[in-house]
Amino acid sequence: MGERYDLVVVGAGPGGSSAAYYASKAGLKTLLLDRQEFPRDKPCGDGLMPHAAGEVAMMGLGDWLDEPHHGRFTGFSIFTRTAEIRQDVPPTLHGPHGYVIRREETDLKLLERAQAAGAEFLPRTRATKLLRSPAGEVTGLAAANGAPVDFAAPLVVVADGVGGFESKMKAHQNAVARRQYFRGVDGPNKEDIQVFMTEDLNAEGAGYGWVFYLGDGRANVGAGVSTRALAKTGRNLKDFFDRFLEEPKIAEWLRDAEPEGPAKSWSLKMGMWGAKTSGQGVMTVGDAASLIHPISGEGVGYAIESGRLAAAWSREAHNRKDFSASVLSGYARQLRRQRAREHLSGHALVNLFPNMDLAEPLFKACEGDRGASRALVESFTGDAPVYSLLKHPATFAAALKDVVGSRLRG
Ligand SMILES: Cc1cc2nc3c(=O)[nH]c(=O)nc-3n(C[C@H](O)[C@H](O)[C@H](O)COP(=O)(O)OP(=O)(O)OC[C@H]3O[C@@H](n4cnc5c(N)ncnc54)[C@H](O)[C@@H]3O)c2cc1C
Repeated sequence: MGERYDLVVVGAGPGGSSAAYYASKAGLKTLLLDRQEFPRDKPCGDGLMPHAAGEVAMMGLGDWLDEPHHGRFTGFSIFTRTAEIRQDVPPTLHGPHGYVIRREETDLKLLERAQAAGAEFLPRTRATKLLRSPAGEVTGLAAANGAPVDFAAPLVVVADGVGGFESKMKAHQNAVARRQYFRGVDGPNKEDIQVFMTEDLNAEGAGYGWVFYLGDGRANVGAGVSTRALAKTGRNLKDFFDRFLEEPKIAEWLRDAEPEGPAKSWSLKMGMWGAKTSGQGVMTVGDAASLIHPISGEGVGYAIESGRLAAAWSREAHNRKDFSASVLSGYARQLRRQRAREHLSGHALVNLFPNMDLAEPLFKACEGDRGASRALVESFTGDAPVYSLLKHPATFAAALKDVVGSRLRG
C-alpha cells in the first residue's frame, strides 16, 4: 500500500477541487488525482449562475471573477417558439450578475486553490477501484499512472463527473450537450445569457440551445437534448446541434462569425435522480452525484457546493473516527435538504411532459406576467423550484386551458 492520506479525492473538476480545498483547509491530509493533465478543457456552456459565482468567490477567487476577458451577464433571456421572456438575475457577492468563463481557466484556478490550501495533486492518474478490507470497509484507492499504484485512506470522495469508475455509485446519464466557440457573434443584449427553447429541440423530449458571451469577443454556442429525445427521434446530438445553428435567429447572429476550434460533446447526469451519494467510506459530489439542474443543465455551482459539504462530512467522520455509512448519510441528507426541491421537481417536470413543446402555452402566459416570468427564470438560475410557478395561479390556469384546448383541437 502506498502513502496514507486522510482523504483521497478522485477527479479535479470543480467538485473535486472544492472537496480537496475545503478538506485541506480543515486540516485533512488530502490527495486529489485526475486522469488528465491541467489545464484541460471540459465541454460546457461556461456559465456561472449567481449562486455558482458565490461558491467560486467563497474559494477566494472573487477578484479573479471580475477579470475583463470574462463574460459578465446581468440578465437572462428565454426565447421560445411563441414567447420572449427576460429577467434580471439575482445578485452575487459582487453585484447583480453571473459570469461566463472558459472551463479550461475556471477548473485550473479552482485546482490551484486546492493546492494552495495544502492538497497534493497527481495528474495523469486514473482511479480504477476502491480498495476494501475483507469486512467491506474502504481502505483506499487503486489507481494507474503508467503503473498500478495504491493509496491508503479511510475515505474517498468520488468527483469523477460522468466517469462512473466506482460502479456501485454510478448514476445514469439523462442528457447530452454540444458546444462550440465562435468569434464575432452579432446578437443583441450581449449582457444577457440567451436560451432558446426551439421546437426542434423540444418536439420529442426536452432541450435548449444557448448563446453565452465571453468578455473577449467570443461566444459559447451550444445545444443540449434529453437522451429520451435521441431515443425517440433516432437522431444524434450533432444533428440537433447543427439544426440549432440553422434556426433563423441563430443563423442571422452567426452570419459573420468565425468558429474557433471544433464542436465538442459531453453527457450530463441530472436531477439527483437515482444517484447514490454516500456509503461506507465514500461520498459522491458534482456530476458523479447527478447534481446537474434538470432544467438549466447547470452543474458547476452544485459541484462546488457538494464538494464543500462532502469536505465538512469528511472532517466530521475523522473527528468521530467513524467512517460508517450511517455517519456519512448525514452528507446525503444535507445535500437533499439543500437541493432536492428544485432538482427533483425539475426532473419531474421534464419527465411528466412527453415533450417540452407542450409547455409552450405556459411560456406564452409567463410573458405577460412579471411574477410568473421571474419564477420561470429563477427555476433556470437555480434560485427557485419550478413549482413556485404555482404561486401564479391565473397564469398557470390560462396556460393549462391552452394546453387542453390545443390537445382537444389536435
Ligand atoms: C455541453 C455542456 C454544457 C454545460 N453548460 C454548463 C453551464 O453553462 N454552466 C454550468 O454550471 N454547468 C454546465 N454544464 C454542466 C457542467 O459541465 C458539469 O456539471 C460540471 O463539469 C461538473 O463538475 P464535476 O467536478 O462534477 O465533474 P467534471 O468537471 O466532469 O470533472 C470530473 C474530473 O474527473 C476526472 N476523472 C474522470 N474519471 C476519472 C478516473 N477514473 N480517475 C481520475 N480522474 C477521473 C476527469 O478527467 C475530470 O477532470 C454543462 C455540461 C455540458 C456537457
